[in-house]
Amino acid sequence: MPSNWDRVIGQSRIKETMRSAIAGGRLAHAYLLWGNAGVGKDALAIECARVLLCANGGTEACGTCSSCRKMESLQHPNLKLIYPLPGSDAKKASSDEDDQPDTEVIDEIRRQTAEKAKDPYFHIDIPKAKFIRIPSIRDIRKQSSMSGAETGKRIFIIFDADAMNDEAANALLKVLEEPLDGVLFLLVTSRKETMKQTIISRCQLMQCAMLTDAEIVAALMERQQLPERDAAMIARLANGSYTRAVELLGTDIAQYRADVVSFMRSILGPSQIKIMEEQEEYLTGNKRDRAEQLLSMILVWFRDTVVMREGARRHILNADQEGDLERFTARFGTKDLEACMDVVERSLELLRRNVYLPLVMLSLTVQLRRILHAK
Ligand SMILES: [Zn+2]
Repeated sequence: MPSNWDRVIGQSRIKETMRSAIAGGRLAHAYLLWGNAGVGKDALAIECARVLLCANGGTEACGTCSSCRKMESLQHPNLKLIYPLPGSDAKKASSDEDDQPDTEVIDEIRRQTAEKAKDPYFHIDIPKAKFIRIPSIRDIRKQSSMSGAETGKRIFIIFDADAMNDEAANALLKVLEEPLDGVLFLLVTSRKETMKQTIISRCQLMQCAMLTDAEIVAALMERQQLPERDAAMIARLANGSYTRAVELLGTDIAQYRADVVSFMRSILGPSQIKIMEEQEEYLTGNKRDRAEQLLSMILVWFRDTVVMREGARRHILNADQEGDLERFTARFGTKDLEACMDVVERSLELLRRNVYLPLVMLSLTVQLRRILHAK
């Protein structure tokens, strides 16, 4: 793992803001790091905590002091990580703060925390966890008002902060309304729009940008030892999310490539039955993720046909599909391929906004046919 702020991929603007706030002693009491999933919000929060707890007291963590060593396992007495946990049964939930998760959950937490310590891009996701529970927030109030016993800054990182229910949010709000010296809250969310305005307004907002393809490519080459062309293909499909890119390493890209060819063949052919057969799984089941993947691949396909048309062969990402691309470009190269890319991009946007999947696929098919069959 790289040292210091380099552990966080990209996000140079936010790193700079944090570094200068730390250097000038101008840190707010609470920050809300928001942006799409997988862009490095957790990694930023963890690195910020590392720097602030480091015995050297600079704007970079030294990596060798006893505090930095504790942070290597995310086991630091002044750091509290908070994330959604499974709810207990109704009777227990109404009891009180002594309510502890059961052994199985504790083991899972231990395992996932270790994973997160190794890779800050790992997302802690305890099975059946829905909400950030009240005892967690009570812990905050108890721990943040503690004084004397432990010295130094006390840092609370709340992952998936949008998962606080009303009760938890209200409890946190009370803590945020009366900030305590030496206590810092770092809230992280991919769904800021679902959070209470009262909480948001108590935090300094830090919007985390989508990563660029170049940033993802560099990270994949360095951290996953991927060859450049594979890294470029995956970065293109990851839509600015490093976590997504790593997930894609485990999927069968070749199969998706083949699916694209078969999809394009069906929608351009004369048989409407073939089109329906080809898209059956999207028209009947809820295969939103799969559809999103297919559409991302179709986007890469159109990009490659444009590259091919311009004669820049060596920049093609679907390198093992040159033959198919060549035939497609020979036949459709004169059509408005940029308009096709717009159509696919808009469809992806609709999918992400949860528009009814069969409708998105049908509309995509009709529009692509219209453009590619235009005289
Ligand atoms: Zn240190």
